Amino acid sequence: MAGRTFDSNAPEVISKIKGLVRFIIAGVGCGRLPTVEIDRYITYCTDSSGECHCNPDLSCGKKTLSFYNESQAQRLIIIFRVLGIVRQLLQENRHASKRDIYYMHPSLFSEQTVVDSAIKNICILLQCSRHNLNVVPAGKGLMMGWLRFTGGDRIYDCIKKPNSAYPIPVHVEEIEGLVSAAQYILVVEKETVFKRLANDKFCSKNRCIVITGRGYPDVSTRRFLKHLVENIQLPVYCLVDCDPYGIDILMTYKFGSTQMAFDARLMCVPEVYWLGVLPSDQRRYSLPDRCLLPLSPEDKMKAEAMLQRCYLRKRTPLWRLELEKMLHDGVKCEIEALSATSFTFLSDEYIPGKIQREGYI
Ligand SMILES: [Zn+2]
Repeated sequence: MAGRTFDSNAPEVISKIKGLVRFIIAGVGCGRLPTVEIDRYITYCTDSSGECHCNPDLSCGKKTLSFYNESQAQRLIIIFRVLGIVRQLLQENRHASKRDIYYMHPSLFSEQTVVDSAIKNICILLQCSRHNLNVVPAGKGLMMGWLRFTGGDRIYDCIKKPNSAYPIPVHVEEIEGLVSAAQYILVVEKETVFKRLANDKFCSKNRCIVITGRGYPDVSTRRFLKHLVENIQLPVYCLVDCDPYGIDILMTYKFGSTQMAFDARLMCVPEVYWLGVLPSDQRRYSLPDRCLLPLSPEDKMKAEAMLQRCYLRKRTPLWRLELEKMLHDGVKCEIEALSATSFTFLSDEYIPGKIQREGYI
């Protein structure tokens, strides 16, 4: 755990925690064990009419936790134990990761997902975001390119060496003096592709910022991308593997993740375009057959479930068509398939060519 100095709305969150505890104690004082109602949030539904009103900013019902039900009581006990830890963090102006919290009472929490779920419920109960609780993500994203800013004690002068990787800062709130000479932001799914672009000196040849969340992006990578877009207003192009997991990662950036539906408005980036690899690119760029792999039964199930998501119908019908094409063709490929004929094809032709010719959707 590390002490930090930047402003937070800690007093407000502490007073909400006190209010919640008072509510429970008052119930006990009246001789009854109270129930706690927690709002439910979703990022999408599977309504095929296209007329649903899914909105991650609005609750879509409530779940009730009661002390009279044994398993619900256990969840409430865990929520209140984590609340106690959060209150201490806020009072002492310290930060902890979810992993730190787990290790404070491993026998009570039994596994990490129990802590994760308690934190999610606390955010909903207190109507605040995880960073307002001083619970911080570990940080795994990388960036490079045409930007400069200070964050905490550190200066991120990426412009000096535009092809060098910098860790994405965990505390977006600390970012100051953000300056960028970039024309666009490129988000790549994989670290291997990020390194390929760094080796190819992609950011010396193209005025851009490249970001990778190294697979499914963590909270800091998504909040950082959102912060960049809000402050420097650049288009965001996303390059993911042409398989259901790559497309799910793409959708996480644009629409938010199911697990973090309550926080979606703070993290989803509606400005994201799908640059590639599109299922229709396989033919357009004559990818060799040896690079195309058959979809596994698991891939097909995932793709079919993704096709039901209402936001694809309502907001990105072209993405939906591409996903349908993938299922119809029954094949997938990795980003690296674009390097099959030439190592530099990806950075010299595919990415800049697609951006110039607006080959994104
Ligand atoms: Zn819906």
